[in-house]
Amino acid sequence: MEELHSETQKAEPEPKIIGLTGGIGSGKTTVARFIEEFGFPVYYSDDRAKAIVNESEDLKVRIKALLGDKAYDENGLYDRKFVAEKVFSNKEQLHELNEIIHPAVRIDFEEWLNKQTKYLVFKETALLFELKLNRQCYKSLLVTAEDNIRAKRVMDRDGKTYREVEAVMEKQMPEKDKIKLADCIIHNNTNLEDLKEQTEQIIFSIE
Ligand code: ATP
Repeated sequence: MEELHSETQKAEPEPKIIGLTGGIGSGKTTVARFIEEFGFPVYYSDDRAKAIVNESEDLKVRIKALLGDKAYDENGLYDRKFVAEKVFSNKEQLHELNEIIHPAVRIDFEEWLNKQTKYLVFKETALLFELKLNRQCYKSLLVTAEDNIRAKRVMDRDGKTYREVEAVMEKQMPEKDKIKLADCIIHNNTNLEDLKEQTEQIIFSIE
């Protein structure tokens, strides 16, 4: 039976990509971990983007050419704070930086995807709808929770003030707009048991 099962999986042409997203403190990373526990692979786009700027020599050269040598510190590591401050008030540079990083992440994802054998794979991306990446996915899965609950969770997790969390929320796409765009929605307003149950129900009902 085992063999038959794996034969069936190999015959699958391409895994279906489910875009997993949510605003700050929504619980998308927690859901991603549950998804992995249920046996499905998750690509963490934001983590990979952070890693790629240090892994790729080509990116290093191009980012330095755009922002100056100080974009990397004395240990050769990407200086996130310097870069954030530099592009904060320069939209053109931010755009060009994204034009360097986003295609590199896309290629990294394609390479990862080629190695996957499951019929479903998940791509966690904070900016799924903002960057219209949902168009490249079979379905989108949104994790959402009420603003005050999200704020409280981030305050507990990161030791941030309410105002600091609120400032991030204000820059993100409003939840009501994401809800309109999402194919599947997990409402994460209660506890972790409920969150896990909802995750299980949704991922095993995707056809
Ligand atoms: P960010 O975008 O800020 O990285 P996120 O959407 O990935 O956030 P998580 O890190 O998964 O969110 O969750 C935020 C915090 O809230 C974490 O500390 C997590 O353990 C906690 N949390 C998430 N869901 C619940 C829940 N249902 N009950 C209790 N705590 C929760």
